Amino acid sequence: MEHLTEYLDDLFAFIRHSPTAYHATAGVLDHLTQQGFKRLDEAVSWSNLPPGSYSVVRNGASLIAFTLSQDPQAGMPMRMAGAHTDSPSLKIKPNPVQVRHGCVQLGVEMYGGLLLAPWFDRNLSIAGRVTWSCDTGPMRCSLIDFTRAAAIIPSLAIHLDREANEKRQIDRQTDLVPIIMLTETADPPDFNELVRKELVRLHPEAAMATILAFDLFLYDLQPPCRAGLNGEFITGPRLDNLLSCHALARAMTAAPDNNCNRLIVFNDHEEIGSLSRSGAQGPFLKSVLQRLYPDPDLLQRVVARSLFISVDNAHAVHPNFATRHDPNHLVMLNQGPVIKVNAAQRYATDAITAGLFRQLCTKADIPYQEFVMRNDLACGSTIGPLTAAEIGIPTVDVGVPQLAMHSIRETIGHLDGWYLLQAMTAFFAAEDTQIHCPDPGF
Ligand SMILES: [Zn+2]
Repeated sequence: MEHLTEYLDDLFAFIRHSPTAYHATAGVLDHLTQQGFKRLDEAVSWSNLPPGSYSVVRNGASLIAFTLSQDPQAGMPMRMAGAHTDSPSLKIKPNPVQVRHGCVQLGVEMYGGLLLAPWFDRNLSIAGRVTWSCDTGPMRCSLIDFTRAAAIIPSLAIHLDREANEKRQIDRQTDLVPIIMLTETADPPDFNELVRKELVRLHPEAAMATILAFDLFLYDLQPPCRAGLNGEFITGPRLDNLLSCHALARAMTAAPDNNCNRLIVFNDHEEIGSLSRSGAQGPFLKSVLQRLYPDPDLLQRVVARSLFISVDNAHAVHPNFATRHDPNHLVMLNQGPVIKVNAAQRYATDAITAGLFRQLCTKADIPYQEFVMRNDLACGSTIGPLTAAEIGIPTVDVGVPQLAMHSIRETIGHLDGWYLLQAMTAFFAAEDTQIHCPDPGF
């Protein structure tokens, strides 16, 4: 992509079509397949792969893609980068339906550390994946998306709570129960039947299907867009961290044929701690690397000379709350990717990996910034430290600055994703980009 507007259109389309981590993974996989990446199945053997580009998906919401320009057994370093596919949301409970005062409502769980207040008074839709079967046929799994304003969580009017602006607290069990329709009977509708109807819209062969189970989430229908008097902002849902997934996938497929082996990993479950079979604290990346490098000694040699760039959004300074930031590390919108540092290794960055990323930005001719949390506020984390600890790979944590992280609608600068794309393209493209620095001799 050569132009900012082309990049933004492509980013907006990706976010619109990615209401859940499953859809985001499917969208990335589509892009990779169109660019010639061959899909591998974890359940079959694929040792001794010839040079080429490959992808592998785990549990529908995590993905690894790699390009082998050289035979891995030659032991060349690997340029690696990662991001997460999931975002905070409301997840529909297995038996969700309740009827109260003529309203049909859905029980939901909190997924991740979401800001609760922005979920009120939004046009919400439902999307995710469903398992189903017809008669005694095999179980199938399909993505569904209601694609319309199917649910709403109305606020309580201020007349019924005069202290709403001073004291209102949100009860996670009782206050955030979405309404999906009105009814005149006390009989609750069959939610599985509603799901089956949506499934049939996409899969007519499911007309007689039994719904077996689902992973369904609510999402905000409002698409991302430019904002601000001069269009200098982007507002949209799930910018943390679909923006990073998009940039890494595009940088990966834009890389020319060269002598670099490169890999991207997109993990699910970052927002709930990453401890799962497809999360960054699980074995997904390690198991793929072990298949590429069956010799443990060779794997360790490659990892020691490689670099992992963990990409996840960072906190820009909020003009109304500037005291929540360290005064010497005020990160600004539209001033480039942020290198994130934390003494307790909540971010994996160190002097060596930060230095390598700074060189990368300088070479790509883009600005960069540095972020460190105030000492009196707890620091968040990313897949970076977990990947570094699992694999042993030198890692740097970076990401674009944003406001309103984990809100249903987040705000970024319109240039920062574009800058990130340039940096990651330089990382994957340039054979002479340094990605390893030996320890100093003692
Ligand atoms: Zn994130």
